Amino acid sequence: ATPTAVMVATGVGANNGVLIKGGDALERAQSIRYVLFDKTGTLTQNKAAVITVKVFTEMDHGEFLTLVASAEVNSEHPISKAILEYACHYHFFEDPSITKDSQYESNNQKMTRWLFDTSDFCAIPGRGVQCDINGKQILVGNRSLLAEKGVTVPTDVENFLVDLEENAKTGILVAYDFELIGVVGVADPLKREAAVVVEGLFKMGVRSIMVTGDNWRTAKAVAKEAGIQDVRAEVMPAGKADVIRSFQKDGSTVAMVGDGINDSPALAAADVGMAIGAGTDIAIEAADYVLMKNNLEDVITAIDLSRKTFSRIR
Ligand code: ADP
Ligand code: MG
Repeated sequence: ATPTAVMVATGVGANNGVLIKGGDALERAQSIRYVLFDKTGTLTQNKAAVITVKVFTEMDHGEFLTLVASAEVNSEHPISKAILEYACHYHFFEDPSITKDSQYESNNQKMTRWLFDTSDFCAIPGRGVQCDINGKQILVGNRSLLAEKGVTVPTDVENFLVDLEENAKTGILVAYDFELIGVVGVADPLKREAAVVVEGLFKMGVRSIMVTGDNWRTAKAVAKEAGIQDVRAEVMPAGKADVIRSFQKDGSTVAMVGDGINDSPALAAADVGMAIGAGTDIAIEAADYVLMKNNLEDVITAIDLSRKTFSRIR
């Protein structure tokens, strides 16, 4: 391809909301064999919403939600946002003196009217959050977070969790003072185009793989909806880059599509990193492509554009 052809293709991409950072990235996309998709925010809409709350102790429902929301208020994770939103709704109905408008300013000062004071907040990427409330430790996250902190998950809680996960939901465990007190079930619907894109890539000779920090059961249930057979779940952020490298071993060109901070090492390690435009700045920086429309069809657009630009007339 001539420099002019590359310039034209980059312009065509830009006009279609596909930003390409340079001619090398444009060229590499033609030979992509594997596309690794992050789950949350990439294959899914990133519209995580709380769909169920189950308290496993005597604790009052409202108090439980306040505890969880207080622990999550300092986190940037989509799950935290979903929990905060749900708790805000709940407390609006419980306390009419707090107006709906004031809650939706997402103003921390307003929220602190009902949130508990916390100390020693700490986010554990790929696991959850931890802090102290009333001198006691609260943990909000997945099984591995609780295992790491030595909290056991009783059988009835585990059964509830498995049921959520088999239905493509994520169960968030809550432990207070080393006791499992409840579960928050979160659902994040698949993007409408996900399955069509996976199918389209397959027809182009490109295989799709899901790589996620979420648990195996949820990951498999979501992958099934998208038509993805190859799943790598419970992968820690640094591990996503290792998964990329394992696919590169035989010399294959590997693309990563992701949106999160936790995807940035993998986006950098991939031959072609594609960031979702609505994703975090760190992901966008690490990527070669930015898909501004947040539409997975643009993965196909990007490969097509590269193939057309670099194909030789035989
Ligand atoms: P993904 O790879 O799907 O984007 P992450 O690596 O961000 O997922 O997180 C993996 C898992 O860790 C989540 O599914 C959740 O169970 C848990 N987790 C991470 N952050 C939080 C948080 N702020 N609150 C609760 N759980 C969390
Ligand atoms: Mg994500």
